[in-house]
Amino acid sequence: MQQWLGHKHAASTRHYAAILQRTLAAAYKKADYFARNVRTIEVLIDRESILSGAAADGGQPWKYYDLGDGYCTYDFFAKCPHRLACARCPFYLPKQSHAGQLLAVKEGIEQMLEQLELTDDERQALEGDRDAVATLAARLADTPTPGGPTPKELGTGVAFIPLTTLRDSLPGGSS
Ligand code: SF4
Repeated sequence: MQQWLGHKHAASTRHYAAILQRTLAAAYKKADYFARNVRTIEVLIDRESILSGAAADGGQPWKYYDLGDGYCTYDFFAKCPHRLACARCPFYLPKQSHAGQLLAVKEGIEQMLEQLELTDDERQALEGDRDAVATLAARLADTPTPGGPTPKELGTGVAFIPLTTLRDSLPGGSS
């Protein structure tokens, strides 16, 4: 290896080999973390609301995170502590509602995928069963939602919506 790298001294080769080993170890660790903790979620973007200015200053939703039965219209969904067990705060839009159904037929809606980094707790809950998500939701019962009220105040502490639509893979990866 020393010859192949053209090093005069073996110490130089050892030095670079150690760096290479550390770099590889860090890359493997990062890849492992991504495989374990990163998921993707489908998001609808309402271009019309953006271009018409209707979405300016939070006037109208323009980003819709698909939670399965409904959408989260909170722009910073990733920061919501209830994202895995949605407490249906004022940012929640049921698909069956008038506005939810209109969205399905509206022109200018674009679909995209957004990456979501899970905490270890969330990943374990997601890999477990509904009971694990229920435990997570119970722990957050007194934590305010981005809309203001806590799940307890909303009465959704036990009737939360588990996020089942998270994809296992990264975009372009295998499922
Ligand atoms: S609790 Fe509110 S902000 Fe959080 S995911 Fe549900 S709708 Fe979105």
